Amino acid sequence: MAKRALAQIKQLDKGLTRQSKGGKLPRCGLCGGTTKLTKTECCDNWICDDEDQYVMFSFAHNSCYRNHRRYTLCGAHYVEDHSGSWKDCEACKELFETEMYVYYGTNEYNFEKLKNPPKYAPTRCETCNRIIRLGYDAYSYGPAGYMCDRCSNQKFGDTL
Ligand SMILES: [Zn+2]
Ligand SMILES: [Zn+2]
Ligand SMILES: [Zn+2]
Ligand SMILES: [Zn+2]
Repeated sequence: MAKRALAQIKQLDKGLTRQSKGGKLPRCGLCGGTTKLTKTECCDNWICDDEDQYVMFSFAHNSCYRNHRRYTLCGAHYVEDHSGSWKDCEACKELFETEMYVYYGTNEYNFEKLKNPPKYAPTRCETCNRIIRLGYDAYSYGPAGYMCDRCSNQKFGDTL
């Protein structure tokens, strides 16, 4: 008898944690997934508990949890232990180049995006003057400045 009662209670618990108030299933705020969710430490939002799917050194952006923590101001702000909100945090602004600051604050890994991202001059390749979008494009960074992937391949070969 006691055993059965305990099992019933456990099932009840499961039902309660799966459903948020209002009877709606919680969804990952980034991809909309509903299986295996957890809450972000930084901002208490539902997110896929999928960091174990990340392949070491693959640099794949396929983990919602990891993407939010590694590629957003919200995650950096939390890890760096700043105070207040990341949206008006001066320490975050100083931590990154403005272009990366804007990228981290407005990319698709954010639950909330920066409303008024600061303006910045585009980064250009020091060799061919092509615009490099630091958050999206491949590039290398050397003593002379940024170099686009095309020019760095020409200079260093594809092996890099
Ligand atoms: Zn997700
Ligand atoms: Zn967060
Ligand atoms: Zn901060
Ligand atoms: Zn170039």
